[in-house]
Amino acid sequence: MKPAHTDVILIGSGIMSATLGAMLKELDPTLAITIFERLPALSQESSDAWNNAGTGHAALCELNYTPQNKDGSVDIGKALKIDEQFEHSKQFWATLVAAGRLPDARAFIHSVPHMSFVIGDADVAFLHERYSELTKHHLFDGMELTDDPARIAEWAPLLMDGRRVDAAMAATRSHLGTDVNFGALTRGLFWWLTAQPGVSVCLEHEVRDLERLPDGEWSVQVKDLANDEAREVRSPFVFIGAGGAALPLLGKSDVEEAKGYGGFPVGGQWLRCTNARVIARHHAKVYGKAPVGSPPMSVPHLDARMIDGEPALLFGPFACVTTKFLKHGSWLDLAASLEFDNVMPMLQVGWDNMDLTKYLLEQASLTPEERIQALRVFMPTAKLDDWELVWAGQRVQVIKRVGERGVLEFGTEVVSARDGSLAAVLGASPGASTAVSIMLELAPRYLNARIGPESVRSRLRQLVPTIGRSMAKDAALTQEMRAWTDKMLRLS
Ligand SMILES: Cc1cc2nc3c(=O)[nH]c(=O)nc-3n(C[C@H](O)[C@H](O)[C@H](O)COP(=O)(O)OP(=O)(O)OC[C@H]3O[C@@H](n4cnc5c(N)ncnc54)[C@H](O)[C@@H]3O)c2cc1C
Repeated sequence: MKPAHTDVILIGSGIMSATLGAMLKELDPTLAITIFERLPALSQESSDAWNNAGTGHAALCELNYTPQNKDGSVDIGKALKIDEQFEHSKQFWATLVAAGRLPDARAFIHSVPHMSFVIGDADVAFLHERYSELTKHHLFDGMELTDDPARIAEWAPLLMDGRRVDAAMAATRSHLGTDVNFGALTRGLFWWLTAQPGVSVCLEHEVRDLERLPDGEWSVQVKDLANDEAREVRSPFVFIGAGGAALPLLGKSDVEEAKGYGGFPVGGQWLRCTNARVIARHHAKVYGKAPVGSPPMSVPHLDARMIDGEPALLFGPFACVTTKFLKHGSWLDLAASLEFDNVMPMLQVGWDNMDLTKYLLEQASLTPEERIQALRVFMPTAKLDDWELVWAGQRVQVIKRVGERGVLEFGTEVVSARDGSLAAVLGASPGASTAVSIMLELAPRYLNARIGPESVRSRLRQLVPTIGRSMAKDAALTQEMRAWTDKMLRLS
């Protein structure tokens, strides 16, 4: 049978594919796009609401985005970048809501204050320094700091109920914070995209292999799982948005830029509150500091959520040892990902990161009572009966070969073929929040040749008005844009 042909193949139906698909179709409505998803429904892996924390990462409360230098000063460079990336996300969503391409914003985004909370002299000094640096900048306007336990109790009563005030403590709060239901957002983006001419979504279709043809196009081998049939589809552009499974698919592509990447999976779990009275008393996302030596993924947080119109409360994440790359994956995923190019960097990263190995083993052996003890650092009155353990999504921590060595990456990593014909997103944090920024880089690489760079630039400016300008350098622009996005996204 002659293979089918399409302009764009998106592998996976998470937030990354949804964002790229919607952006490409906005930029070039003539594109034919085919989406393959191995599960029977859209967005059931990391992008679904309970599989991530829903934090609109804007560096307002996450202390690991503002590392402390040896002299005690705090570096805010990464925080400025992440904050502006999230502003791009809000602008993209606001444009789509205004055009009726996304449903009411209340379905996927809410204002929730973002707080940082620390205990002990050293961490209090760090929080003061961080606050002092961030509030010199207009992007972080309105952030408040307090050392007063009574004020912290006003901001977040659960933090202070039953707490003995026998050590220094401090908190910051920003009203710019958000909670995002990335699952609802993803399905919202697909709602519009899949109604457009030339777009088809194939559920229960698993991409098994991909190969570059002599004419430069990609041949993608797909298994129709429901009918047990194999299909081949060809396309000049493939995006691997397969979440944890992106790494092995990237390996199969054989592109030079993917050589040497490896990864190991880390499962996640939350404590979810089941007591409506407790849930009603907490309206903030409160991030603490990860214990010294532990990885950034272990930053604990007590998080108010709004999921499908219902307030919710979670604490975590707790890490667990696993060999699956997807929540609905196979126990053989890790073994199958090993290749000649990545075995050495992976073994060497394991050797260099004994702290991480120890942390994962400790986390895996936690008892229910020990998990509640961890929660009591945030909420001293927490009771075991009010909380249940639920599984979060999978993270696959990326290992990158740098020279002869392997380096463990905790960020979100974009790998693309030099000719722009294939790209993949790996890693987690800041993850879903920066999907729009990632796609603002990727979309032109494919479309410039098709519709011309000037046309791409001007259409992108309609979708994300500050593209090409720096909000970090322009206070008036920041104010104007935030007023507009807040109105469109109904943020207060
Ligand atoms: C515990 C945890 C907490 C997090 N918290 C936050 C947060 O607070 N804020 C934030 O911004 N980000 C957060 N993240 C990160 C965020 O969830 C991810 O970065 C994001 O959801 C990844 O989206 P994706 O589209 O790449 O992958 P996914 O949402 O995982 O989607 C991948 C899709 O590809 C499909 N697929 C896989 N293989 C194939 C194949 N071979 N063929 C066809 N389909 C395939 C899968 O079934 C799945 O539907 C968190 C992640 C975790 C794990």
